[in-house]
Amino acid sequence: FHKIMNRLYNRGKSMKQIQINAYAKINLSIDVLRGRDDGYHDVAMVLQKIDLHDAVTVSCCEDPSEGAIELSANIQTVPMGQDNIAWKASGLMKQLFPHKSRETIRIHIEKRIPMAAGLAGGSADAAAVLHALNALWQCNLSVAELMEIGVKLGADVPFCIMGQAVKNAVLNFDKGSISTCAFAEGIGEKLTPLPPLKAFAVLFTPPVFVSTAEIYKSLDLNKVRTRPDTHSLILGLREQDFEKIKASMYNVLEEVSVEKYPVIGENRAWLQSISSPAKTMMSGSGPTLFALTQDKNLANAIFKKIQEDEGKKEGNAFLTETSY
Ligand code: ATP
Repeated sequence: FHKIMNRLYNRGKSMKQIQINAYAKINLSIDVLRGRDDGYHDVAMVLQKIDLHDAVTVSCCEDPSEGAIELSANIQTVPMGQDNIAWKASGLMKQLFPHKSRETIRIHIEKRIPMAAGLAGGSADAAAVLHALNALWQCNLSVAELMEIGVKLGADVPFCIMGQAVKNAVLNFDKGSISTCAFAEGIGEKLTPLPPLKAFAVLFTPPVFVSTAEIYKSLDLNKVRTRPDTHSLILGLREQDFEKIKASMYNVLEEVSVEKYPVIGENRAWLQSISSPAKTMMSGSGPTLFALTQDKNLANAIFKKIQEDEGKKEGNAFLTETSY
């Protein structure tokens, strides 16, 4: 009994904990340029963080123990073991900082971002764990260094690292050269920060599972007729010209996802019909659709209409804002 009490006491003394908000993203554009030998595609896309977020709490014990990684979440559909990308993120940090590898790491994910939805929820959780351990272990890694580690976990992780560095004051990063909006090239990891868009976003996630890999496989680049005007979109963000931004936005994956899952197309048409003049688009490889407007009353009205229509339309709706 004494031993246990002592251990608990010591644990209490040496346990450190931090909570990071792990923000979702939407795509203001996706253009796919070419397939690569490694199976990935070279893309050109504009990414924007939104305020919808998971809350990721990470704690670790300084007194050396068996070095376990313990994961918990508020909902059961979140993968609980090594399949969880947040688990992988802590495993990677243990490899990079072997002198910490015997500490027990506890991760709790308060999941609010719909999963497999095109909102990079998993990537955001992984980024949060990298930030958290960097802070708890006092590794002093810069945002750029964390992004280099993050890309090993997934193409969207570096952008999540950058966005979280802006929005989580507890991390204490200099905001000078980072942003919640970026132009992404390569597989999505080469980032050029852009001035963020200030807008309201109404999200609607139809209840269909979309595999990103499958959508990319089905994409025939010879058949792509419409592409985003990336140059004009970037200019629009620099000038904060919302009309220019709206006119330049496009997601080349949308046609593929709609063809494979007609329910996405039906929901898109419906969302558009109740959202005018807001801009409607699909995020990532779907199925999440969003309506974007700078008019708060319009955003409220769209969200209300979705809730009124909810009996007819199955899915999850969120009223949120872009992060800036
Ligand atoms: P992306 O836009 O990067 O493709 P997404 O938002 O479409 O991501 P995620 O929410 O990241 O998709 O989930 C994709 C899959 O990853 C899920 O089916 C889930 O089983 C698995 N996964 C692993 N870890 C997590 C996590 N922490 N949160 C959510 N999903 C996770």
